[in-house]
Amino acid sequence: MIISKAPTLTEGQLAEVEAVVGEFGCKIQVIYGAHRNIYAIIGDERSETMVNRLLGLDYIDRVDRMESVYKLMDVRSDLSHHRIRVGGVELGKEPLFIAGHCTIDPHNTAAFLETAAAVKEAGAQVIRGGVWKPRTSPHSYQGSAKTMETLIEARARTGLPIVAEVMDEAQLAVALEAKVDMLQIGTRNALNYTLLADIGRRTASSGIPVLLKRSRHMGPVDEFISAAEYIVAHGNPNVIFCPRGTMPELDGFRNHPDESITPLLKDKSWAPVVVDPSHSVGRAKYVPACALAAIAYGADGLVVECHVNPISGIGDDPKQAITPDVLKKLIRNVRILWDLRRG
Ligand code: PEP
Ligand code: MN
Repeated sequence: MIISKAPTLTEGQLAEVEAVVGEFGCKIQVIYGAHRNIYAIIGDERSETMVNRLLGLDYIDRVDRMESVYKLMDVRSDLSHHRIRVGGVELGKEPLFIAGHCTIDPHNTAAFLETAAAVKEAGAQVIRGGVWKPRTSPHSYQGSAKTMETLIEARARTGLPIVAEVMDEAQLAVALEAKVDMLQIGTRNALNYTLLADIGRRTASSGIPVLLKRSRHMGPVDEFISAAEYIVAHGNPNVIFCPRGTMPELDGFRNHPDESITPLLKDKSWAPVVVDPSHSVGRAKYVPACALAAIAYGADGLVVECHVNPISGIGDDPKQAITPDVLKKLIRNVRILWDLRRG
């Protein structure tokens, strides 16, 4: 849909516009109004180059696309009936709970194994544990590939699947070699299109679910969905959206809580949504309320930082991990809310 600056295009301008869209296999249908005309683009109007060429004409004000730029993630795509399973849970059928440390401490691996058992007992179906850590300061602990062994040990002891964040191709190779059950792309790499495409390619045959966090710097919902499109377009349709708070942070919260984005995502895309309240609010005491709000907004599950003794943890754990007792109560309340939501 093309809106011109003047109420109508001149004959010469219309011919120019028709020539541009014609190069992309489209036509113009003029809709005559009382005061202004609208120029509808007929055909596949998703080409960004076509839109940019139109916007480059100084007599064009706006070009609004009726179709979304993402072809595969669109709620109207053939994938709309695709279902994703993690840890014995089909997303959407019952709430998914992923829980565990922000960071696995290489000097206290016993704590991680203890937490893994405790989150299982609390009702979580997937264990998280940061092996490599994206840290704002280069002087903070950066993680260690060695702790992948601890994560694998936790899986062996509990029988639960494991998720680990990867930030580059080398880490991806280690995680795939370890046969992790789920990959996490963190907020810092949610806009790293090369990595997203690579993950799509490298997981195309296995179809390992990928938890894609929302970048702190993402604005429009379409930006998030388009990032997921990179993974799906390169071969792996098992992508899960993970809102986790964005900029600017609210006074007292670590980020700007964004669990309310879920219904908007669901209107536009078919992929499940698993919200991370821990990084969103950044304080253990606010996590349960944010988690429940996320479920009320329609989330399919939660990923929560949890530690048997948060104060002895590293990374984010001392400030934002909840204890297994709190997790257990949260899971109970989420299930109640889930049933209310369905009723
Ligand atoms: C994490 O999950 O510990 C993490 C670093 O997440 P995010 O990328 O959302 O900050
Ligand atoms: Mn963390």
